[in-house]
Amino acid sequence: MRVEQLGEGDPEIGVLAAVHGDEPCGVRAVETVFSGEPELQRPVKVVVANERALARGVRYTEEDLNRVFPGDPDADSYERRLAHRISQELRGLTTFSMHSTQSYGRPFAVVGSADALAEAVCPYLSIDAVVEATEFSEGRLVEYADVIEVECGLQGTARAGENAVALLEEFLSAVGALPSDRGDPEEVPVFRLSRMVTKRPADEYAVFAANFERVSAGEPFAAVDGEKLIADEPFYPVLMSPYGYENEFGYAGELTGKLGGSPVNEPSSNRSYSG
Ligand SMILES: [Zn+2]
Repeated sequence: MRVEQLGEGDPEIGVLAAVHGDEPCGVRAVETVFSGEPELQRPVKVVVANERALARGVRYTEEDLNRVFPGDPDADSYERRLAHRISQELRGLTTFSMHSTQSYGRPFAVVGSADALAEAVCPYLSIDAVVEATEFSEGRLVEYADVIEVECGLQGTARAGENAVALLEEFLSAVGALPSDRGDPEEVPVFRLSRMVTKRPADEYAVFAANFERVSAGEPFAAVDGEKLIADEPFYPVLMSPYGYENEFGYAGELTGKLGGSPVNEPSSNRSYSG
């Protein structure tokens, strides 16, 4: 783990990169944005988290770091000890954590809940959606810190790195750390994860549904070894991809509202998926 303090005074803002070692976009953003020594109006703590996994180009070395928060200083696993150190470093800070994904090409945010922090920051980010992890936040940093996580684009692409640079600058402007104008707030839809969409062991997986686009009842949304999975009820796919996770395609979500505007009312029949 690498920790750097930038600007004058005790940081209230945290920037976190490389929680997953095979998602280098955050490191690129940190290097690009801070190498120019920008004039910071609020001090910032920069944490490059899993340097060991980053060096090997793997998601993690022993356990998925973003499933073992708040961590344990005496744990056997490297990531569990690391999670504890990161939790200590970020205590009390408003934090921005950058990831990339296999599920969706454009940026979106992941938060524990669409609270005041999300409301203050997310409408100023170039994102398609805000995802509330809510019941699925166990072991994730969003459960234990004041953090906005962003998925910056497809893992390993140059675009994810470019997006990460832009998003980090937008975040720093939104919280008043960079002097640049934060622009006008944009309306952004909020999706809440309602259930995990599991996949049985197989050789081949496919996902037909597009993330954040409503799947209707009766619509085939994925396939396992060529066998189609049909939606029992309407839902919104979130973080869904054929091979992004070991045991699940991703999540079924519901559209619960928006930030930067007034609430959306969804018909209750759209609120859950039980396939
Ligand atoms: Zn990640």
